[in-house]
Amino acid sequence: MFRIIIIGAGFGGLSCALSLSRFNHDVEIVVLDRKETFDFLPLLPDTLGRGISPHFLSCRIEPILKKEGLQFIKGEVSSIDLFRKEICYNSEKIDTSTALSINPERVKRVERVNFDFLVIASGSETNFYANENIKKSAYTLDSADDAVKILSTLKANSFDRFIIGGGGYTGIEVATNLRLWSLANKKETEIIIVEKADSILGPLPQWMKEYTRKNLARLHIEVFTQSSIERIDGSTVYVSNQKIFDNALVIWVAGVKTAKFIQELTAEKNTQGRLKVDSFLRLNENCFIVGDAAYVKYKENYLRMAIQFAMAQGDLTAKNIIRAIKGKKPVSYKSIDLGYIIPMANNYSCGNVFGVNLKGKPPTLLHFIMCIYRLYGIRNKIGFIRNLVLHR
Ligand SMILES: Cc1cc2nc3c(=O)[nH]c(=O)nc-3n(C[C@H](O)[C@H](O)[C@H](O)COP(=O)(O)OP(=O)(O)OC[C@H]3O[C@@H](n4cnc5c(N)ncnc54)[C@H](O)[C@@H]3O)c2cc1C
Repeated sequence: MFRIIIIGAGFGGLSCALSLSRFNHDVEIVVLDRKETFDFLPLLPDTLGRGISPHFLSCRIEPILKKEGLQFIKGEVSSIDLFRKEICYNSEKIDTSTALSINPERVKRVERVNFDFLVIASGSETNFYANENIKKSAYTLDSADDAVKILSTLKANSFDRFIIGGGGYTGIEVATNLRLWSLANKKETEIIIVEKADSILGPLPQWMKEYTRKNLARLHIEVFTQSSIERIDGSTVYVSNQKIFDNALVIWVAGVKTAKFIQELTAEKNTQGRLKVDSFLRLNENCFIVGDAAYVKYKENYLRMAIQFAMAQGDLTAKNIIRAIKGKKPVSYKSIDLGYIIPMANNYSCGNVFGVNLKGKPPTLLHFIMCIYRLYGIRNKIGFIRNLVLHR
């Protein structure tokens, strides 16, 4: 029987696994993830300002897979050998000799497993650009656990300012949500976005940048461009051009990179470590890459990181693996871009959907409709809608 290993149970990995199970082919499907939960990342910023409970954005991976007869292993992949078709991962198991005691010991092990087909869907993670001080001191927003940590820190402390590292989509969303949080909690917190480039929102159209800057000004959110956070010492933050801020909380959303095992792989990558793939999303005949880990050519450029692409690529990869098993030619990936939205917490969002420029409430509404549609589990959908509607 063919063994298919999928690294990562995020948007791309889960779509691939669930599509494979629908083919009903006699294959062994093993999904590996370093976390036990699937987290709905696009709504994480909304947990800060809109009263969305992070618990409704998270669900356990194992039951989702088990229901379809698929295997789940909790483990962190540390290396892959494409020639020997083998992956190496670190697992943590409860020591059975002490399992009956109150605190059974967890034993760390390095395990190896072979594959016939490999799908790398390990997404991306926060990039600290080798700044260990920022890594240790700043908060990140990569998971529902991160959101819980930020919310409890906000509850337990009274900060004079919030400093957001990074003026991309996520930085803007986080800043506007923190303004909502400070208004709801009657705090006069200064909010600053620190962006290294000479403008926010990188390659997006000029009108969106201007519209967003106007809205940030409306919310009294300052933007420092051509600036960087240099050091964090307790709650004191050192920003370039000798700016020093006391009693500040730093949230770092200044960029992403792929997992370490990908960075160490000998293959062609972009600067974020995304793997360049062929038109069938492959590195070779047995190894497929989907989602943020894949660097896919699109028109004159490359596809951005987004859940719509990760999910579509996961589905196509499932189809192509089954075709390969049946000895059929693969189908090439044709990306369809539905558009994008920059959701801002005061409902002055903007975006471009199906080629149409949108501003204000309609894109906010669309953002939430897409999120409700894609959230896993009826409990999560209802909980999220209740939180959103009842929040003041
Ligand atoms: C705060 C935030 C907001 C976002 N908002 C939007 C939005 O509004 N719209 C949009 O389209 N996109 C948004 N994105 C981007 C979107 O979430 C990603 O493009 C999408 O999740 C990519 O899917 P993926 O399957 O490639 O990776 P992911 O969904 O990130 O899944 C990767 C999985 O791999 C696992 N993994 C990683 N390394 C290893 C390893 N070594 N071993 C085992 N497992 C591993 C991870 O634990 C994770 O579960 C947002 C991202 C963030 C962080």
